[in-house]
Amino acid sequence: NEGLGSWPARRARKTPHRTALIHDGVRYSYAALHERATRLAHALHARGVRRGDRVAYVSPNHPSYLETLFAAGLLGAVFVPLNTRLSTPELAYQLTDSGACALLHEAGRAELPDGPGVRLRLPVGGTEYEDALAAAPADVLDEPVGPDDLCLIMYTSGTTGRPKGAMLTHGNITWNAVNVLVDEDLTTDEVALVNAPLFHTAGLNMLTLPVLLKGGACVLVGSFHPTRTLELIERHRVTVMFGVPTMFELLTREAGWATADLTSLRLLTCGGAPVPTRLISAYQDRGLTFLQGYGMTEASPGTLFLDAEHALSKAGSAGVPHFFSDVRVVRPDLSQAEPGETGEVVVRGPHVMPGYWGLPEESAAAFTEGWLHTGDAARVDTDGYVTIVDRLKDMIVSGGENIYPAEVEDALLAHPDVAECAVIGVPDATWGEVGRAVVVPREGSAVSRETLLPFLTGRLAKYKIPKSVVVATELPRTASGKLRKPEVRRLYGPRP
Ligand code: ATP
Ligand code: MG
Repeated sequence: NEGLGSWPARRARKTPHRTALIHDGVRYSYAALHERATRLAHALHARGVRRGDRVAYVSPNHPSYLETLFAAGLLGAVFVPLNTRLSTPELAYQLTDSGACALLHEAGRAELPDGPGVRLRLPVGGTEYEDALAAAPADVLDEPVGPDDLCLIMYTSGTTGRPKGAMLTHGNITWNAVNVLVDEDLTTDEVALVNAPLFHTAGLNMLTLPVLLKGGACVLVGSFHPTRTLELIERHRVTVMFGVPTMFELLTREAGWATADLTSLRLLTCGGAPVPTRLISAYQDRGLTFLQGYGMTEASPGTLFLDAEHALSKAGSAGVPHFFSDVRVVRPDLSQAEPGETGEVVVRGPHVMPGYWGLPEESAAAFTEGWLHTGDAARVDTDGYVTIVDRLKDMIVSGGENIYPAEVEDALLAHPDVAECAVIGVPDATWGEVGRAVVVPREGSAVSRETLLPFLTGRLAKYKIPKSVVVATELPRTASGKLRKPEVRRLYGPRP
């Protein structure tokens, strides 16, 4: 077995007694993880799961997450992690779309729908699960699995539309983990705090799997809570953590933020959505190494990464391509953009998916000459460092000028009274389209057009300054905290 399923066995041979997982105060050594994944694989096999079958999983972060992933890998089956926040019809769609034959789920969620192919349901974490493991043999499973075999079907976040199932092979996931391991200099002494959900690519692939490949320990937390995060960092002497900008933002608003002992933290990585300048400053001012990464589900996801050495000198940039990745910023004809010129990010490499599950047309459209189109705009500087600008789809065209909302949002977030904001385009008789800022004020403060717009003068070119401001109490976000722009446009765009 050359796939992910063999990782626990290989680690158990090398470092059997070291801690692989910590959850709710319970430690799982690599030997234990290996044994439990092997038993689960036998249990699933006895219940009819075969190579190529899809095994769906829906639960907050829990050791059974990794056990199921590795067990599926041992059988040559495909792991399908599902978002715990999906509605019943959305879940039913993904179970049907993936053609899952098994559904492992959080206990107490009998209401979860069945896909048409689901023959096996197993609640995880309780006695039924433990009994199934105990009754199964622990002897070696020897299913041939190669790097081109499918490992995961991972649904995209659904920020811009219906989530698509990215097909990721064992090779894709392995190369991505190696990229992270190399570029973050991970060691066996790493202690990762995994409070980003494992159903999103970053929590699983940018943190948990690279750390497990290297033999470090992962502290699994069911859901992100800022107060608890600071406590866990202190208690476990956490060395690495990944978060989306919203998570890191919430940490800075904690009462304990200024005084917590964060000296164990070697590096913090942030990505998945535009990383505000004020957030980078807050972490740098706190003396922490705060690094931006950029990627997408389709690329397993690591694509660009800012190395620790350039954290200060290139702050705001998403860095350079991961070690085994090719990235270009191109014009529509695929010629390379000049330094400073805005173009589209395209990526190629052993970590990039072969295509979307069951979507041959979308898969073909996603690639040109082997390069995956990301749909994201970016600029490269003369040293090759890439700054992500925004999604191309969200660009506003005003009087012939392109406005990237993320840049305007970043400038607005520098205002002390702005907690959150989103900029959208609305039709305008003169300019075609103009910007509108939807702003959530900080608790206890008020914002208005009169206070905000003058603040932007001098920070942004005049045409980029929104023409109207709408005050909101909250903004629609995905489960991982990303702004759902189509929903913002629907709620705060022009009334028909
Ligand atoms: P969907 O494809 O279903 O609409 P999604 O694109 O949000 O959802 P993901 O694969 O989770 O799904 O996210 C990848 C996207 O996140 C990238 O294409 C990019 O737009 C955004 N992103 C990731 N990292 C960064 C970053 N550092 N800065 C700005 N945007 C980022
Ligand atoms: Mg996407």
